[in-house]
Amino acid sequence: MVSFTCNICGAFNRVESFATEPASCKCGSNVRLRALMHLLSMELFGYSLHLPQFPKLKAIRGLGMTDKESYADILADKFDYTNTHYEREPQFDFTECHPRLAGMYDFILSADVLEHIAPPVERALEEVCRLLKPHGFLGVTVYCTPSDNMREHFPELNEYRVVPLGNASVLINRRRDGSLEICEDLVFHGGSGATLEMREFGMSGLGAKLIAAGFREVHFLTENLPDIGVLFDQDVSQPLMARKEKFVMEASAQSQLVGLWREAQTQIRRERDRAEQLAGRIRLASESRWVRLGRKLGVGPNFMNME
Ligand SMILES: [Zn+2]
Repeated sequence: MVSFTCNICGAFNRVESFATEPASCKCGSNVRLRALMHLLSMELFGYSLHLPQFPKLKAIRGLGMTDKESYADILADKFDYTNTHYEREPQFDFTECHPRLAGMYDFILSADVLEHIAPPVERALEEVCRLLKPHGFLGVTVYCTPSDNMREHFPELNEYRVVPLGNASVLINRRRDGSLEICEDLVFHGGSGATLEMREFGMSGLGAKLIAAGFREVHFLTENLPDIGVLFDQDVSQPLMARKEKFVMEASAQSQLVGLWREAQTQIRRERDRAEQLAGRIRLASESRWVRLGRKLGVGPNFMNME
């Protein structure tokens, strides 16, 4: 039996047979998504807040790669955050160059996407780094092999199509030199052509690629966080944070945060005043009740004096 509070929806869960990849909360969250939100919170605020507790800071800009609605909707409410997709609107292809968006984002999230990006994946990592502000960061979950080996399944991928053949699918690729190749034994995640596994990562290789793409520091989350239901096993995708520089909240976001803090202070003061007034009224009411009782019992002038 595993008990935890989901840091995405705030629900308390008691799960009899706990596994890392299947959803273990009614909001659909699993270990890697809760771990990713923990990393995001630690990076932004230095605390592991639950997502609904995040302050609303529209000065913070984020970008998602096909993030799940369960947390994407909350992020869109809290920040200036856009979830993007490879195949539908708002469409965004990280393997292309977006010079006008360079240096615009505080954070980018990539939950189990890097293994599906067409090669070379280095191009997408460099583009992510370019899109981030100088103090921005990339939050990732991606499966890493226990053997720490990296394997590119289709290193010569160029013009290609996945087509059904018999009971399975094959990939037909026209290499750059014009020759054709047919690849079998394709691995799909989630079942559709868009989720074809292009590669397997190892932690060391992935870390090195992120550094080569322009990140200065890569932090892999490996410790369990039982309070929020993050318990790792062999099956789980590896959560990590890749930083350019250590995250610093810009002045605009800081002043929004101070604004929220002041609002909260005013609210607390107002509630305290209201509580004091209420307590005063209760005290008066109970005193007069005792006074009345005193009169009824004929207990003397002391009570009368109090009135
Ligand atoms: Zn949940």
